[in-house]
Amino acid sequence: MSAAEILPEPHTDLESIPAAVARLRAAFDSGRTRPLAWRKQQLEQLVKMHEDHKQEFIDALHADFGKPTFEAYASDVGQGLTEAKTAIKNLQKWTRPERVGGLPLMGRGRVIREPLGVVLVISPWNYPIGLLLSPLAGAIAAGNAVVLKPSEVVPHTSAALARRIPEYMDPEAITLVEGGVEETTTLLEQRFDHIFYTGNGRVAQVVMEAAARHLTPVTLELGGKSPCIVHEDADIEVAARRIAWGKFINCGQTCIAPDYVLVHESKEEALVEALEKSAREFYGDDPKATPDYARIVNHRHHERLSGLLQDGVPAFGGELDPEDKYIAPTVLRQVSPDSAIMREEIFGPILPVLSVKSIDEAVAFVNDRDKPLALYLFTDDESVEEDVLERTSSGGACVNGTLMQIMDARMPFGGVGPSGMGAYHGRHTFETFSHRKAVLTRGTRFDPKIMYPPYSERLAKLMQRFM
Ligand code: NAD
Repeated sequence: MSAAEILPEPHTDLESIPAAVARLRAAFDSGRTRPLAWRKQQLEQLVKMHEDHKQEFIDALHADFGKPTFEAYASDVGQGLTEAKTAIKNLQKWTRPERVGGLPLMGRGRVIREPLGVVLVISPWNYPIGLLLSPLAGAIAAGNAVVLKPSEVVPHTSAALARRIPEYMDPEAITLVEGGVEETTTLLEQRFDHIFYTGNGRVAQVVMEAAARHLTPVTLELGGKSPCIVHEDADIEVAARRIAWGKFINCGQTCIAPDYVLVHESKEEALVEALEKSAREFYGDDPKATPDYARIVNHRHHERLSGLLQDGVPAFGGELDPEDKYIAPTVLRQVSPDSAIMREEIFGPILPVLSVKSIDEAVAFVNDRDKPLALYLFTDDESVEEDVLERTSSGGACVNGTLMQIMDARMPFGGVGPSGMGAYHGRHTFETFSHRKAVLTRGTRFDPKIMYPPYSERLAKLMQRFM
């Protein structure tokens, strides 16, 4: 891989942050972001920014951690674009007041979606464009002013976004703050009407504590250890291909990547062989040489992953190049369930494969740990599918596949328990950034005195009959 220019950690002047948020608050209070015409125009600008600068974004992602062009577009840059287009198409429908069948004589009920106000979107480094701009699309559709905080861990991408956002988006209502802990801490001291955070659980606690001070609601899109259960009836070739793809894309740095595999003991050998075959088909004999395999984002994570490699014996892979931040696609065997690699989210291209004797054992193993963001199950047996889905809890799940459960924006994407709270994608993003205001409009012609004090016995009886 060619060495990219090393950029310093990005930052925005701390003193300018409160004023920037105040400017957005004034814009929101003036009603600037409410008209559908403004929302549509901003969403169109978001689409245009993607179209005009997709190559610049792809290049930045490559400079930051060697993200292959296809992956950069399909799984990152394309994400915000799709969400913006979906929002444009559905804006009228989503914002239409929802009629509610009224109660007799009470009046006419409806639910109005109103914008929350000034919202903050904080995103991580692994899909740094999509995870920032997808929430932005829904927040605009809902009529909010938005502060964007991309991750400092990917400075080229942060710089590209900082260049283009002010050029395309309304600067009075949408702003971007670059930086790391200091800048985010200053941001979190401001009052927001919603905070949408994607990243790790430790920082999520910091975010939630800061939000609590202003009683600000939060959406937390977190991670964890997403298990992959391979039942004895599974099609091993297909399972291996889909697991290897979901694990090694973005060099394993995907929140919903299969973290580890629990395979029926009768299929362990065959699965490991098929995983190796798939990895070889994808990346050739020397994965380091292919442009289709990314790198670890920085030396700190490379060192952390190199340590985790010691927790098992590589069935294949295991090669490292710290200088290039390279770790080969690796399957680990002989891994103890108590080792560090089985306690923390791996977030790299190392896949522990553990064998189990039964589905019951696999379910018990999963339920013994935090509720994951995703659960993967490979089986053709519908009763096994229903049984596992019923006995486990996870943000989402995919049967006979990996990652694809997030592709259909009609389905909410989010975690449960330690893997997150709240959900988004498509209409769900719009709902996340909207308040559902219940409104009852009453007529004035009918106003029987019996409803008011002093209450009659007749009224009490009537109430008991109807309620
Ligand atoms: P990161 O280091 O980029 O941090 C995320 C954001 O938090 C950044 O914008 C960063 O500036 C900010 N931040 C970091 N420390 C902070 C602090 N002390 N105070 C305030 N803000 C702070 O990314 P990360 O957390 O390493 O991301 C990886 C994690 O995110 C993994 O656990 C992964 O599973 C999860 N993730 C979840 C999703 C999802 O959609 N659920 C998507 C991607 C990643």
